[in-house]
Amino acid sequence: MLNIIICGAPGCGKGTQSDLIVKKYSLTHLSTGDLLRKEIAMKSDLGIIADSYISKGELVPDAMIIDILLKYVENQHDDSNGIILDGFPRTVAQAEALEVMLKQLDKEISVLVDLKVTEDELIDRLLIRGKTSGRSDDNMETIKKRLDVYHKLTEPVNDFYKSRNSYTPIDGMGTIDEIFGRISEVIDSKR
Ligand code: UDP
Ligand code: MG
Repeated sequence: MLNIIICGAPGCGKGTQSDLIVKKYSLTHLSTGDLLRKEIAMKSDLGIIADSYISKGELVPDAMIIDILLKYVENQHDDSNGIILDGFPRTVAQAEALEVMLKQLDKEISVLVDLKVTEDELIDRLLIRGKTSGRSDDNMETIKKRLDVYHKLTEPVNDFYKSRNSYTPIDGMGTIDEIFGRISEVIDSKR
């Protein structure tokens, strides 16, 4: 089993690289952000609540996210080689909950890939994406807020995984192929 976490600041390329990793290693892709956007599109109760946080650049509360994850895992009966968690855990509390959940399933995280991208580049990428994404959070004001929230609440998750020896920073600057090459090397070394 290959269970990977891909993390990093908003705009670091988690989604893009996850798509490539999923194809190459036959993993299941779980993006909590994508799940939330699906709920928003369906205008479900959950989606309406989630949207009120996301459009402000804030995190959806831990309990809601953990609930979504539990439901997803319970309904997941496939024969993939493992899972890639994209954009989760976003807080230390979520990382702790994930660890308990995996232990119960007799699973563990193989590696955490942290994509490192400069702040200027992140902002450029998100503003460009905002022109076509239709996402309520890809505008300058919300991007600034998301970066603040990332530094305050999400970056500490890295220390959690450092203490479990699964943390691997990767240079997230360059072409998509270059970055994918770097990630593949790390994954191959864990198999
Ligand atoms: N979000 C959240 N918890 C999650 C995933 C997403 O609160 O586990 C919210 C949060 O407001 C975030 C937004 O959804 O800014 C977009 O998530 P996504 O992972 O798509 O953002 P990215 O960092 O990839 O741009
Ligand atoms: Mg994303």
